[in-house]
Amino acid sequence: MSNPLWFDPGLCLINGRWVRPASQATLPMINPSDGTEICHIARGSAEDIDVAVQAAQSALDGDWGRKTALERGRILSRLGQLVLERVDDLARLEAMDVGKPLTQARADAVALARYCEFYGGAADKVMGQTIPYLDGYTVYTLREPHGVTGHIVPWNYPMQIIGRSVGAALAMGNACVLKPAEEACLTALAFAHLAQQAGLPAGALNVVPGLGAEAGAALSGHPGVNHISFTGSVATGALVQQAAGRNVVPVTLELGGKSPQLVFDDTDLDAALPFLVNAGIQNAGQTCSASSRILVQRGVYQQVKSRMAAAYADLTVGPAPEDLRVGPLISARQKEIVTGYLTKGRDLTIAAQGRIVDHAPAEGAYVQPTLFADVPPDHTLARDEIFGPVQVLIPFDTEEQALTVANSTDYGLVASIWTRDGARQMRLAKQLRSGQVFINNYGAGGGVELPFGGVGKSGHGREKGFEALYGFSQLKTVAAYHG
Ligand code: NAD
Repeated sequence: MSNPLWFDPGLCLINGRWVRPASQATLPMINPSDGTEICHIARGSAEDIDVAVQAAQSALDGDWGRKTALERGRILSRLGQLVLERVDDLARLEAMDVGKPLTQARADAVALARYCEFYGGAADKVMGQTIPYLDGYTVYTLREPHGVTGHIVPWNYPMQIIGRSVGAALAMGNACVLKPAEEACLTALAFAHLAQQAGLPAGALNVVPGLGAEAGAALSGHPGVNHISFTGSVATGALVQQAAGRNVVPVTLELGGKSPQLVFDDTDLDAALPFLVNAGIQNAGQTCSASSRILVQRGVYQQVKSRMAAAYADLTVGPAPEDLRVGPLISARQKEIVTGYLTKGRDLTIAAQGRIVDHAPAEGAYVQPTLFADVPPDHTLARDEIFGPVQVLIPFDTEEQALTVANSTDYGLVASIWTRDGARQMRLAKQLRSGQVFINNYGAGGGVELPFGGVGKSGHGREKGFEALYGFSQLKTVAAYHG
């Protein structure tokens, strides 16, 4: 595959200008499909973050801050169009950077366009209320931007996460400082180039790549930042919340998950099977909303086990450009973590494993997708977020048991219920401890429009849909006494 870079990747975007980081330091970007070096990116530091935050504030005080909601929406809509025109370029970039099979990378690029379209269209449709109050008063509410918003995103779905957080923040009139992940930040830079082409004023979006402990920590603790949107691990989320707390700044945390699918005896298995498997292996299982626990009622357990095992035996794993079902993990480090979990599963039964293609480069971060059967619900593999293509099958007898097991981890991001029984669907949808619940599907095709976020250690706050616009704004109440 030819090199799809169409811009200088070693720069930060600050105040509308592409500049080297103050320290001139760089970080290598590694292609996880073969371990080769793609390029060097900027290693931004506290100094660059500080200038970027000031630039964002100047944008709010200037041209960007004066834009009407309609004008902001038009810029976002134009940006969505530009993303659509470059979908294939963005997909090739993401495939190279993240190791995503091309089809999956392309779907992320299309989702990025969709976020820009959705938030572009929604920008001028966020309204306040009038509130009946005492005699002689008129009371109303205004939705106003927080101001400077910080966005710290991970490497697994850079385009989708930037779309949902930066897209919504810009729609509401905030000015953003984006810190992409050090493992994969090329599409963040590409997006910023397209945003400039779409007419986004200088300083409305600033991008400072760098390490989490340096640029990320500087952004989350910067006193000039008014809101932080963080997507990543629980441990880092807690640090970000602490840092923001010192400045009394609100934080949205989108963290991990151990999302269950509950399969009852009356399930339409032909419909369920593709969802059961795909939700575990998409993006090589490196998905916060991956379904890594499949709870199956005893009457269909053997059938589900053998059909999922057959699907796993068919899975091939290889370099991203070959567009197989599964690509490499993001890095050698992630491969070490996932293989560590496979070792922890030594005492378990492996129902089936996928196959790494023979010609996959030895330096690539490949692991075999693995389906474990008959896993006790308290086993480490049934409780920890593995972030790799690993699923566990857990048998159950009754609805009560299924619910107890489903709700027994620290997480609560997504859950799904497979049954034809309408009353059971409604009961469980209420009782499952989860930010999203799907009935007879999983993931609803991405769902740009659907509020998303977790309970428990999966985080707090909601992104996506209209809900994100409320999160990226604050409510002002105006009470006028006129007698
Ligand atoms: P991570 O927490 O290590 O990194 C995420 C981001 O935080 C990166 O940009 C990183 O540079 C930055 N960071 C690291 N240390 C920091 C610090 N001290 N201060 C500020 N920023 C810092 O997470 P990861 O390993 O890259 O991503 C995997 C995790 O993210 C998984 O747990 C996964 O479930 C979660 N995730 C959640 C969602 C969601 O929407 N809920 C989406 C994707 C990933």
